[in-house]
Amino acid sequence: MNRVVFAGQRLFMKFPKLDYFEGRMPEADAELVCVRDESPEALAEAAREAAAVVVIARPIDRPLIRGLERCRLILTLSVGYDCVDVAAATERGIPVCNTPAYCTDEVANHAMTLVLAVARKLHLLLPKTREAVWDYKFSRPIFNFRDKCLGIIGLGRIGRAVVPKAKGFGMRVAAYDPYLDDDLFELLGVERCYELPDLLRQADYLTVHAPLTAETRHMIDAGALGAMKPHAVLVNTSRGPIVDEQALCRALESGRIAGAGIDVLEEEPPAADSPLLGLENALVTPHIAWYSEESHEADMIQGMDELVRVLAGHRPRFVVNPQIFGA
Ligand code: NAD
Repeated sequence: MNRVVFAGQRLFMKFPKLDYFEGRMPEADAELVCVRDESPEALAEAAREAAAVVVIARPIDRPLIRGLERCRLILTLSVGYDCVDVAAATERGIPVCNTPAYCTDEVANHAMTLVLAVARKLHLLLPKTREAVWDYKFSRPIFNFRDKCLGIIGLGRIGRAVVPKAKGFGMRVAAYDPYLDDDLFELLGVERCYELPDLLRQADYLTVHAPLTAETRHMIDAGALGAMKPHAVLVNTSRGPIVDEQALCRALESGRIAGAGIDVLEEEPPAADSPLLGLENALVTPHIAWYSEESHEADMIQGMDELVRVLAGHRPRFVVNPQIFGA
């Protein structure tokens, strides 16, 4: 029988009940083993003989991968797979899979919600109306969306889904993504910025949809924030470490940018005294952009379908290191 290890605080938070996964284990001739102990040793020991390791956010690093003796699949029940050392898995010939498309529309909707809410200053108005204060001046200035520029960093699945939504509000859309061809920008009617500073300078709202990589870590730092317009709004629904949080706090405190809508933090869950949580011009949500009832279910189904497929000896559908199959 195959051993399938589930690990990671975030996985158990996202799926407090594992009935669906348990119910489908027989299809993979597998037993599910939960590792709730957060120590690397506990996971290494439980995963040593596992046929599959399933995580969200929990680090699957080179030493752990080196110790996997029977592993045929590393699966993240998430779009981002930055917690896995993909190079180390590739060297061992282990496919790394994710659930890439279960929440594209949800994240695009959440990003737009944050853009609109912060630009319309809902986070400033709500505490006032709770005190029965009935005045618009606390929200000043608010600008019309028409002809304003929405800047997108990373024009992949989610970035592309944002485009028609922003255009629906009359916004002009520009994007920075060095890994795509010009024709895609043309097809989407998106103005291409070949360099990030060009986008930073013109964006009235900037939304981040790139993956976390060595290149994107702290891509939005003090210098990038300093290049933005003073009335600009920054939205990050991608990964916390893409934005230098300390620099963002300073930029918000000093009024260097007008506001931020942030779904992902450098440390999650954050400490209660995390500075960003207390800032008046920041609207912070608890890494929830992925969530709807439908996407929650889709994540489970897509993940289990992949697990069953791979443990039955078939090629995965959503593999991030296809080179192991000679691709
Ligand atoms: P995707 O792979 O389809 O698109 C990412 C795009 O970013 C690609 O087009 C890629 O070329 C581009 N990119 C890579 N490096 C870049 C760089 N240095 N500068 C600019 N662009 C760069 O991924 P996606 O499905 O659109 O998801 C994007 C990210 O959103 C995921 O990696 C994940 O971290 C995050 N995410 C967050 C949530 C949430 O709940 N907050 C949910 C799903 C996904």
